[in-house]
Amino acid sequence: MASANPYKLFDVTLLRKTQLSPHMMRITLCGSPVEEMATWAPDQRVKLFFPAADGSQSRLSQEEGWYARFRAMLADRRPAMRTYTIRHLRAEQGEVDIDFVLHGETGPASRWALRAQPGDAMQILAPDSHFTAQQAGGFEWKPPQTLKQVLLVADATALPAAMGILDELAALAEPSQVQAFFEVESAGDMLSVPDWPGLSVKWLIRDQTSETIAGALMVEAVREATLPVHQSSAGRAIELADVDIDKDILWEIADTAPEGFYGWVAGESAAVMSLRRYLIKECGIPRESLNLMGYWRYNKAGS
Ligand SMILES: Cc1cc2nc3c(=O)[nH]c(=O)nc-3n(C[C@H](O)[C@H](O)[C@H](O)COP(=O)(O)OP(=O)(O)OC[C@H]3O[C@@H](n4cnc5c(N)ncnc54)[C@H](O)[C@@H]3O)c2cc1C
Repeated sequence: MASANPYKLFDVTLLRKTQLSPHMMRITLCGSPVEEMATWAPDQRVKLFFPAADGSQSRLSQEEGWYARFRAMLADRRPAMRTYTIRHLRAEQGEVDIDFVLHGETGPASRWALRAQPGDAMQILAPDSHFTAQQAGGFEWKPPQTLKQVLLVADATALPAAMGILDELAALAEPSQVQAFFEVESAGDMLSVPDWPGLSVKWLIRDQTSETIAGALMVEAVREATLPVHQSSAGRAIELADVDIDKDILWEIADTAPEGFYGWVAGESAAVMSLRRYLIKECGIPRESLNLMGYWRYNKAGS
């Protein structure tokens, strides 16, 4: 039956946890409703609902108007909502994988990933496969057909999406040129990536440096790299208003990608802001070929 809403709430349970690396845990969620889940791109985002501050489990009802009821709940009893990425969906088996960065017990999501056990209940807002209209959203990886060169920059939170992007490109008959920069906590957090002649992946390992600022290594590495881009507007004064990343979400999306170049950059907001300034103002890369996304903010809880 066709659905009028692109997203719906799914009641699922934790099937298994797989430690992918010291700081990355794969959570496999399951349940028959997952057979009706969809994913439209490798960076498909979903919302997960974690226990509220008073410890109570998320039990949002599926009925229409659930979001308004959720917002109206007392803060202590309202489930903590956080954004994650579908890494793999096996709808026919009723299973979905979400890869969690383990950053300790400071946030409800990371805490849940550390403590949860098979059988624990969870609610997830994800695309509904019965939604048939064209413009299902919740993803930004929309490369142009004439894709020639990709710049992919991700910290650990954006790695699930970036790995999915690499998987998708690797499956093409002629994958494009890709320069990837991935910042992770330790050497053990490097994941295995596909391989093709035009792919260059630079892993940036935080614990091998004295760097303490999240995202600083990826900013530095991109600044040092020779980027295969046209310098058409370099040197011209480009207007670029700052985004107040402590108030607003940094989310700037590509629309056209002139000359086949496409950038996908996601991670800690201040690092993405710094790359935005560098890529647009110093390198002269057209804004319309860049996705610049703050996935989290240092010292600020997500929502
Ligand atoms: C579109 C999108 C897709 C995302 N996909 C994923 C994904 O697939 N996997 C994933 O792990 N994350 C992903 N994230 C990031 C995730 O939503 C945030 O990291 C979120 O803040 C984690 O919630 P929390 O409850 O653990 O911590 P919060 O309660 O949000 O924050 C508590 C404290 O922890 C800090 N913090 C939050 N995240 C991190 C971190 N990664 N490292 C260090 N400190 C941190 C905050 O600054 C804050 O001080 C995604 C974000 C977006 C916007």
